Amino acid sequence: MSKPKLTVLLAGPRGFCAGVDRAIEIVEKALEKFGPPVYVRHEIVHNKYVVEGLRAKGAVFIEELDEAPEGAPVIFSAHGVPKSVPEAAARRNMIQLDATCPLVTKVHVDARRHRKQGQTVILIGHAGHPEVVGTLGQLPAGEIKLVENRAQAEALRVDDPDHLSFVTQTTLSVDDTKEIVDVLKRRFPNIDAPRTEDICYATTNRQAAVKTLARQCDAFIVLGAPNSSNSNRLAEVAAAQGCGKSILIERAAELDPGWMEGVATVGVTAGASAPEILVQELIALFEQRYDVTVREVAVTTEDMHFSLPRALSA
Ligand code: SF4
Repeated sequence: MSKPKLTVLLAGPRGFCAGVDRAIEIVEKALEKFGPPVYVRHEIVHNKYVVEGLRAKGAVFIEELDEAPEGAPVIFSAHGVPKSVPEAAARRNMIQLDATCPLVTKVHVDARRHRKQGQTVILIGHAGHPEVVGTLGQLPAGEIKLVENRAQAEALRVDDPDHLSFVTQTTLSVDDTKEIVDVLKRRFPNIDAPRTEDICYATTNRQAAVKTLARQCDAFIVLGAPNSSNSNRLAEVAAAQGCGKSILIERAAELDPGWMEGVATVGVTAGASAPEILVQELIALFEQRYDVTVREVAVTTEDMHFSLPRALSA
C-alpha cells in the first residue's frame, strides 16, 4: 500500500543560536582544560539532549553552588545569573566561567546603568524564568519592577514617571512585547526605551520564519524543551497566525500519530536551544509513515558568533 503524502516545510533559521553554541563550547573547553568534573549551575541551556550529552562527558549539573567543592570550576548558564551568584562563587574560591549570552549581559548592563542614572527600571518578562531571575538580581531585591503582560502594564504605579526606563527578556514574543511597550509608552510618554530591541536576533528571526510559513501549513511542530521560553513562543506564534494546530515536543517519539490526522503540510522549526539532529530525527520518523517532500524555507541567514571567555579562548 502506498504511503500518504506529506510536505514538510522547514523554517529557517531554526535551532541553535550563537549564545547556545557558545555556552556548549564553554562547557566542552572547560572539560578539556580542567578535566572532569566541571560543575554547571542549572541547565546550561534548556535542552535535555544537550544536557545529557555534556553530562556523559563529565559535566555535573547543580542547582546551588554549595553542591560543588570549594575551588572547583563552575559555569554559569546562558540565561545569566543574579549578581549574588558570582559573589558567592568568589567567596568559595571557585574558578568562574560565565556562559551568560552576551545579549543577556547587555540587558544586565543596561538595567544597572539606568538605575545608576536615577531611573526606575521595568523588566518586561516572565516571572520565574532563569533569565528574569538573573536580570532582577542585577539590582537589590525589589528595585526592578517586573511587568509580565498588558494588564500589568496598565496597572503599574511608579513614583516618578519622568525617570523611567525598561528592558526586556530576550526571548519574548515580538508581537506581545510590542503591545506591552505600547501601553507603557502611552501611559508614560517620557519612558526611556532601549535604543535597539532587547528581544534577540535569534528569537526575532525564528518567530519571523514561523510567521512566514504558518499560513501555508495545516499543523506546526516546534522541537524544544517545555521550559524553553523561545520555543514556547514559536508554538504560540504559529497558532496566532491561524495555522490549524501547533505543538511543542522535545523528541519525535512524543508525537502522537493521531495528531497528524488530516495534515498534508506540516511546518517544522526548532527553538534556539534544540540541536538540528532532533529535526532530522523527526523527518526520519515521518519518512517511515509518509511519502515525504521536504522544503527548506529561509527568511534570512545568520552569521552571528560570540567569542569565548578569555580564560578558555587560548
Ligand atoms: S536565544 Fe538569544 S539571548 Fe538567548 S542565548 Fe540565544 S542569542 Fe542569546
